[in-house]
Amino acid sequence: MDAMPVTGSCLCGAVRFEIEAPYAAFRYCHCSRCQKASGSAHAANVFVPETQFRWLAGEASVRRFDLPSAKRFAVSFCPQCGTRVPHKVATTANMLIPAGVLDGDPGARPDMSIFWKSKAAWYVAPADMPVHDEYG
Ligand SMILES: [Zn+2]
Ligand SMILES: [Zn+2]
Repeated sequence: MDAMPVTGSCLCGAVRFEIEAPYAAFRYCHCSRCQKASGSAHAANVFVPETQFRWLAGEASVRRFDLPSAKRFAVSFCPQCGTRVPHKVATTANMLIPAGVLDGDPGARPDMSIFWKSKAAWYVAPADMPVHDEYG
């Protein structure tokens, strides 16, 4: 636990937490469930052992939905602003952290995209399109 903790927070600030490296995994997930749950092309998920995770605020208000047909797919969110927040992954000792809610650079980088076969029909890799620093 030598690493500096990285904090995360929801849009409204009611839910806050921190994590410490090293992480168990950092992946983009293109599965159809992650597309629904993120409202985007893919999730960006950091997995961190529970022992390296701490709630700083709002834990009691967090709402969780466990997908009944899944072994461990779940979504947790802030009921006030709807932002996805971390949840404990069933049957493992890891927390799933939606990387977009981190306040700073977690240091690690995603090292694979999974469920590539399920990716959205409209998905185009950023490297294959123009990029603009702000609105295009
Ligand atoms: Zn919130
Ligand atoms: Zn997924």
